[in-house]
Amino acid sequence: MTRRRFIADHYNDTTASLTGEQAHHLARVLRAQAGQQYDVVAGGFLYRATISDVTETAVTFELGEQLETDAAMPVHLLLAVIKFDHYEWGLEKATELGAARITPVLARRTEKHLAHAAAKRVERWRRITLEAAKQSRRSDLVDIDDPMPLSAALKLPLAPHKLLLAETEEENTLRAALEAQQLRNAPDAEQNRALAFAVGPEGGWTQDEMQLFQQNQWQPVTLGPRILRAETAVIAALSVCGAFL
Ligand code: SAM
Repeated sequence: MTRRRFIADHYNDTTASLTGEQAHHLARVLRAQAGQQYDVVAGGFLYRATISDVTETAVTFELGEQLETDAAMPVHLLLAVIKFDHYEWGLEKATELGAARITPVLARRTEKHLAHAAAKRVERWRRITLEAAKQSRRSDLVDIDDPMPLSAALKLPLAPHKLLLAETEEENTLRAALEAQQLRNAPDAEQNRALAFAVGPEGGWTQDEMQLFQQNQWQPVTLGPRILRAETAVIAALSVCGAFL
């Protein structure tokens, strides 16, 4: 039987609780009662959990048996901010496909008004990815960083394999780059298999930005001869990556 899954807002070793909208949904819409069982993700682990208390503002669970889950792929996506409806769609799909972390990048060609509004949008982006994580039955949340310029994003602790998705690259395909890194045979240590991808804005990366990537040892790769929308490039890259990881 497939049980509904929730991601705990608070937890310790033996109990977990939902608050805010999640508690409201469970208490009011699903009419939760003590004794009912759900699957609850707490601290990145999935548990069969039994409701012990329901109030107006919180639903509390006793955590039971730990269940098998699929963890996120060790993929960190640097995603330039683009029009918000397209961006949010891309965030949702990246979550479903298993990205672990997403850094919104204020690229040179990110439209000014979007760059200004991005900081206020992050909480909404976190909510969107929380919903997508639940819907796709992930056992963990995507980390969504606060938006930052590319120079700051490149200073974050990044994966050993750094791939710049570039429609200007003509030879080195993403597939060939992943094959060369022999991820399939890499030792299981998460860090050895970890990848970072960068996807640019509607107008693409500027020359300056391309140089910055080069100075930071990012390898340009292509997804083929067609120019894809940024959100399509995200889906294509994560799907290819999924086959390797
Ligand atoms: N500069 C382009 C133009 O206006 O002709 C368009 C940029 S594209 C809409 C947005 C981003 O998607 C790019 O910066 C790149 O990261 C990614 N992308 C699009 N097509 C790609 C391809 N064929 N291979 C690799 N990356 C691609």
